[in-house]
Amino acid sequence: MAFFLKDKWQEWAREWGLAHHPHKGWLYPTEAVVGERRGLLIRVGWGTQEKPGLVACIRFPRALDLERLRQSLMDDDTLDALPGKGSARRRMALESGVRKITLVGRPPEFTLGETSLVWRRVHSFSAPKAPQIASWVDALVVAIARATPVFDGRCESCGTGVVRRYVLVDDFPAMICASCQQRMRSEGDMAERTYDMIEVRYLAGATRGLAAALAGAGAWAMIGALTERMFAAAAIGIGALVAWAYRQGAGRVDRMGRVIAAGLTLVSVVAGEILLYAWWVAKAQPDVGFRLDAGAYVYAQTWAKSPGQEIMALFLGLVGAWVASKALQRPKLRSTIAEEVDPGSEEQRAA
Ligand SMILES: [Zn+2]
Repeated sequence: MAFFLKDKWQEWAREWGLAHHPHKGWLYPTEAVVGERRGLLIRVGWGTQEKPGLVACIRFPRALDLERLRQSLMDDDTLDALPGKGSARRRMALESGVRKITLVGRPPEFTLGETSLVWRRVHSFSAPKAPQIASWVDALVVAIARATPVFDGRCESCGTGVVRRYVLVDDFPAMICASCQQRMRSEGDMAERTYDMIEVRYLAGATRGLAAALAGAGAWAMIGALTERMFAAAAIGIGALVAWAYRQGAGRVDRMGRVIAAGLTLVSVVAGEILLYAWWVAKAQPDVGFRLDAGAYVYAQTWAKSPGQEIMALFLGLVGAWVASKALQRPKLRSTIAEEVDPGSEEQRAA
């Protein structure tokens, strides 16, 4: 998809006086434009791998009557200019105060929150051209500016502080005055400290993680016995299960916890292989029966004679271990507040 990753929005950014954020990395499109438009704040970019598509976020001062705003946007005929006649807006979802992390099923195309409208449109074939995107975003901005008050230079958090320029809060533009930024930073620090004070129960975490790893080994062996194959999905499932079990026991996650969960996942897959060999031995030689030492012996022999199968199992185990480690990332407790780049300049400086 490398062809996709050429920056294409500089011209648009210049015309509208927006800050242009070029692609970072080379796997997924991350180009974005951020700035003010008709008194509103916008960020247009690309969705994540899990939730792909063109994502336009339009932010406004906290709306007092969200239901009315939603109704006016649904009734606004000018939004027929959006792709598919903007008909998905009639199923506009309302976002509650808490940001939902996961949505089951297909995410809605329009999501209205107290301070933003997010429009996500998936294009099956090629990405739309910048002027086309700009015209859609403008239609949305005009419709919203008609339906709800725009920013008037005051802080959207306290309503009194004067804001000369928006800042980026977790990459999204927001009108936050200097003292509210200060307050948000110290609240973030406080949340971090509070989290760090939670005692980590390594033993409880490892015990539950081990139980999950044993259950995973049993499942791995059973799948192997039934299908005579191994599946990445099984290793990923074990990783997720072990991580979940560890977190239940440990209470807080840290680097050590990630190492423990990753190690247990790997152990689980190897134990699964040994169980599988023990089962095959028992099947081939009923007089020997189901013996773990026989399974371990065959496992070692396989490594010595034709290690391909076990290298594959180990590789899948590592994939599972990576999943477990990723699942135990420290939760994000504070927002990142950064100054925006000047429109036209390509370098972003983080505050
Ligand atoms: Zn403020």
